[in-house]
Parts: sequence; C-alpha cells; structure tokens
Amino acid sequence: MIKYSNIKMPPEHTINDITAFIGKKLRTSQPDPSRLKIIKKSVDARRKDDIHFVYTVAFTCENENAVLKKNSGNKNISSYKEIPYSLPQRAKLSKRPVVVGFGPAGMFAALYLAQCGVRPIVLERGLDVDSRKEKVRMFWEKGILDTECNVQFGEGGAGTFSDGKLNTGVNNPLSKTVFEEFVRHGAPEEIMYEAKPHIGTDKLSETVKNIRNDIISLGGEVIFGAKFCGYDTESGRIKAISYIKNGTESTIETDNVILAIGHSARDVFYMLKNRNVTMQPKNFSVGVRIEHKQSDLDRSMYGEMSGHPSLPAADYKLSVHDKNGRGVYTFCMCPGGVVTASSSEENTVVTNGMSYYARNGENANSAVLVGITPDDFENDDITAGIEFQRKIEKAAFKAAGANYSAPVCLVGDFLSKRTSEKFGNVTPSYPIGTTFVPPDDYLPDFVCDALRYALPQFAEKISCFGSPDAVMTGPETRSSSPVRIVRDETLSSVSVKGLYPCGEGAGYAGGIVTAAMDGLKCAMAAVGRNNRST
Ligand code: FAD
Repeated sequence: MIKYSNIKMPPEHTINDITAFIGKKLRTSQPDPSRLKIIKKSVDARRKDDIHFVYTVAFTCENENAVLKKNSGNKNISSYKEIPYSLPQRAKLSKRPVVVGFGPAGMFAALYLAQCGVRPIVLERGLDVDSRKEKVRMFWEKGILDTECNVQFGEGGAGTFSDGKLNTGVNNPLSKTVFEEFVRHGAPEEIMYEAKPHIGTDKLSETVKNIRNDIISLGGEVIFGAKFCGYDTESGRIKAISYIKNGTESTIETDNVILAIGHSARDVFYMLKNRNVTMQPKNFSVGVRIEHKQSDLDRSMYGEMSGHPSLPAADYKLSVHDKNGRGVYTFCMCPGGVVTASSSEENTVVTNGMSYYARNGENANSAVLVGITPDDFENDDITAGIEFQRKIEKAAFKAAGANYSAPVCLVGDFLSKRTSEKFGNVTPSYPIGTTFVPPDDYLPDFVCDALRYALPQFAEKISCFGSPDAVMTGPETRSSSPVRIVRDETLSSVSVKGLYPCGEGAGYAGGIVTAAMDGLKCAMAAVGRNNRST
C-alpha cells in the first residue's frame, strides 16, 4: 500500500474528494474510495480563517512501486504495510489467575489471559454495567449512594460514566492492541484514526459488556459484587486470595493476582499498608470542574465557522505554571458533556465529567486542576494523600448542605472573592443539585490562589474563559492515585511475588488507554512474556 500524509480537506468534503486529490497529485488513476484506509484524521483550527481537516491515508493502486518512484520527491508519500490483528499465543499456568477489578486495566488483563487460554477469574466489587447504571441513577436522582457500586466502582471501572476519551500521550504498540480490541468489541471504527478519539459513555458501556462476554466465552469467569478482602502468601509468593460476596467470604488458590483496583479503592490501600506491602505517596491534582456553554466555546475556537455541521464540538487543553511554579491545567475535557456526581464514600462530594458519543449537550466541562505533591500533605504517612483528598471531599459535602449537592461558584465571583448569588448564562449540569459556596470554603488556600492566577491566563488563550458566568463546581479530587504500589522489573509487587499491582490505582497509568495497556503488560508478565508478540 502507499501512505499519503498531510492531505488538507475543507470542512465539507467526501472520501471521493480525497481519492480524487490523490489521483491528481500522483498523476495516477484515482484509488478506489471504498478501499481507502484512513490512518489519521484531525481538525486544524489554529487559524480561524483556514479551518480544515488533515488526513493521513493508505491505498492500493496498480504499479505501486512505479508510483512511489515517480513521486519520490513528495515527502508526504511512503510505502505502507498493514500489521494484521493477531491473538496472543496460548499459555499454561498451573492455577487459574485472578484479576481484581474490572476497569480498563482489569478488563484488558482478563481479556489477554482468556485469549491465552488460562481461564482468568475476575473479582469486581461493583455490579454489571446495567445494574450499575440503575445504582448511579438512584444516586443522581435521589441522592442514595451505594458505596460498593457507583461512578468509581462496577463493571468498566471509573471510565464507564466518562467521555470515553481515548487520548494517550504514550507511543507504544500496545495502544494499537487496545484500540483494536475496543473496535472488535463494538466501539466505533473511527477511534482507530481520529486524532482525538472518544467512545462516549453510551457506547463504552456496550463495549464493556461485549468484552466481558468474550472473556466468559473463552473460559474466563467474572464475579460481580465480589470484594477482594485479603490474601495468603507462602515464602513471599501469593498463594490464595479471599473475597466477600453477599456477606460470605470465599478463597481462591492461585499463583498470580492482577490487582487492578483503581484510584478509589481506599480500603485496599489501607489493607496493603497494614500488610507492609511497599507503597509510596505520589503526586496528584485537585481543583474544580468548569462549565461553559458549548456554543460559546465553539465560537471561541472556530470563530465564524462555529456551528458548521462537519466540525466536532470544540475541545481544549490548557496549562500554566503559577508564580510559585505550581502547575495548573485543564484535564479530562468533556465537549457537550455533563458534570458527574462521582462520590464513592458517604458524606463526601466528588465531581468528574462525562459525555455521550454525540457530545451534543448544552455545556462543555473540564477539570481545572492544581498539582499537589507529598510536600503538601499533613504528614509523611503513605496514606496522607488519601486523607488530603478525603478532607476536601468532606468539607465540600458539609459546605454545600450535607445532602450531596455540590458547591458552585461563578468564575467572576471567584476572582472577586464573592459568594455567587445567581447563575448567568451557564446552568450547571451536576445532577444532584448545587449550593452557592466559594471554592475557598473547601479547597486549600494555595489551590485557590493557583486557580485565581491561572483562570485569567487561560482567558487570554480561549476567550470564553474570560466569561464571569462560567460555573465552577467542585471538588475534583480523584484525578489520579494518591499512592504507588511499588513493582519490580517483572511488574510484580516488590513485597509479594505473583501480585501484580496494575493500572491507575497502582500508580502506573492515567486514563483509560494507559490503564488498559498496563493491564495487557501485567497479564503478559503473569504468563511469563514481556510483549504482545511473544
Ligand atoms: P478503574 O477504572 O478505577 O477500575 C478499578 C475497578 O476495581 C473498579 O471497577 C472497582 O470497582 C474495582 N475494585 C476496587 N476495589 C476492589 C476490590 N477490593 N475488590 C474487587 N474489585 C475492586 N479517562 C480517560 O482516559 N478518558 C476519559 O474520558 C475519562 N473520563 C473519566 C470520567 C469519570 C467520571 C471518571 C471517574 C474517570 C474518567 N477517566 C477518564 C479516568 C479513567 O476512568 C481511569 O483512568 C481508568 O478507569 C483507570 O482504569 P483502572 O482499570 O486502572 O481503574
């Protein structure tokens, strides 16, 4: 095949326009549009008077070598070889491996192990995705929180009620495997080539179900409502693992446990600390969700082209360092999305964001976060970061009326150090209700100072950030894990061999794709491999 990069297309175009462009440029017959493979597609909106799409594609044509030779001066042309999808080779383990947690890390670990034929057993404390949706609905509509099944816990993990953004800054062949498996299990095909791929919570929950069913069809087992609660070792190696389901404790004998518990399994972190498993406190971030009208953001980003049906709902990524060098940045931006109530513990308020595949909601939201390091914690304990988060979450709960309403403040009032009294043109989307409370009442002073420094700077880059009506809903505290469970070069815990701390909770991933990739890596390590090709 021939690869052609950097093809510029106007907002309105068809696949035929791309193949016609290629035929003309290469002075050859027009490639067959139905066989054109899109490798990359992005929107270039850097200049509002020249917004366009940029493609990299691959195609077949007659006499490819001759076409390549004739166009050897064109730096956008090269030869291209497709790497076909392949399943991992079969493996052997004397006992069935156990995967704890069925978020992206656990799902992909279990899928790989099932594909290898070693019949993993998955323990997930939350429920299957359909029952979980009902639990989340009860919380969002009635304020009734299930601490075992919520936005953090349950099938699909923390990402199920998300935008399903699949951005990753990591350049690793395993990310291709993750995308391929998502598509094989029902995710939209375009995630393979979009520069900013996303699935949306609606399609993600179906995809997750298909992955579960595939694992089961390959001989694996997925036990929902099963909370990992302890383990036994022999000569420093894992020997058995215990879990509680419906109040009854059971034990599974195993030599390999992939511990993919996510960043909110605080009880597990405390259990590991009590068992002297080596962990380290780590950096994370806290802040608020900010909401603008999506149409205002589109205007800020696309100018007169805003509202064009071919252009996606605009997004952004901003960062700045405050005067003390502390990082402030936007995170997990959800175009056309909503702010979610994401608590997993009673009497706490936690926010996050999600969107549907169509990204067609009224508001755009994103976290605005301030970097926190262990130097900011009250003490040197491994769990000091957890307590730092918890203190903020509890303060927010109390300040907003102790009923799971979230504290909100308009940006203009926050900058002028006033408590807001009424909303302007942005209505907050947090589902349980809101109370006017300034972030100063629940976030540390240094976090508020950093936010006050950053917001005007962001307004210089994206005009709608200057709107005094933008709404800040808080707090966002679960941006990443507050601890790292230390692994050795085999990816095993340095304290317990055969226990593989995995994914975001273990401190080795941040986001859906990197967590899924880490799941693959740990699964490979468990069957004695170090990459997908072996
Ligand atoms: P998790 O997804 O947290 O999964 C851990 C699983 O372990 C959970 O299902 C939990 O129930 C289970 N578990 C915990 N303790 C136990 C136990 N004792 N026994 C049994 N099971 C247990 N990332 C992106 O890349 N893009 C996004 O758009 C995005 N949006 C997000 C929106 C929201 C609302 C949230 C909360 C997060 C979002 N994230 C997003 C972050 C992303 O979801 C996480 O990075 C990712 O899910 C981490 O994967 P994981 O498998 O390591 O952990």
